Amino acid sequence: MGTIPPILKRVNTKVEGILLSKHPYGERNLIVKLLLRSGKLITVMFYGGRGGGEKKKASVLELGTMLKVELSRSKTTSDFQSAKEWQPIWMANKVRDNHLAFYALCFIVQVAAKVAVEEDLHDESQSFDQHSHGIFRAVSNALVHLESSVAANEFIPRGEVALYLGKLLVELGVFPDLKSCIVCGHALSDFKLMSLSSQHGGFTCSNCAPVDLLPADLWQLMNEVALKKSPEIKPSDSLERIALERLWQYFCFQCHLDPKDFKTLSMIP
Ligand SMILES: [Zn+2]
Repeated sequence: MGTIPPILKRVNTKVEGILLSKHPYGERNLIVKLLLRSGKLITVMFYGGRGGGEKKKASVLELGTMLKVELSRSKTTSDFQSAKEWQPIWMANKVRDNHLAFYALCFIVQVAAKVAVEEDLHDESQSFDQHSHGIFRAVSNALVHLESSVAANEFIPRGEVALYLGKLLVELGVFPDLKSCIVCGHALSDFKLMSLSSQHGGFTCSNCAPVDLLPADLWQLMNEVALKKSPEIKPSDSLERIALERLWQYFCFQCHLDPKDFKTLSMIP
């Protein structure tokens, strides 16, 4: 009994995923990163994906679009996947008419592309990974929340981004403790001012962090993130820019990301 030659290995040929990035390849093609329902990434070549041909499919290959894709069967384990057929399942249409919302969308997909790991479609065991599945949940919920906020004229740029980062922290298992100060253990509910410290790895009370204090808005939003589903959360517009930055620093510290790699966040006022 030898090993199965690569050419005979079974490959998932029908996948669904969210378009996280796209890069032109030649005049008509696109190389796309898709976030699958498994929460893992695949890189797919869309021949003719830039449009210009008779089929004019390019318009659906937009950031944040959920696609159903039929992949061509690849010949070896190392081959690039290519898309044979594709169609949109969901698109962020309203977001595209609102430049701030579009920046938020760009940020959402960019962060997802950094925290998700590559899927191996040739791996027949398809081992279940709770954190990975959670990434897909956080990204799809964030995009739907963003689209419906814009549609309802309730779009709060900072709140939308903070909600997403909070949900992603939950799914990745690195959500900060909300009950007590990470340094002294005092109940955080007793404080009107506090800080979120990357170095300490959580919220600190105003006694332990006498500088860099924030109003409790961020802490309150994170309590909602912990307790409620995304559609039930309406971020308040009182969240300060500095609070979003603290949350982002905490996120980058926990996920080993360099904040400088994410220029789109600076576009969110
Ligand atoms: Zn303390």
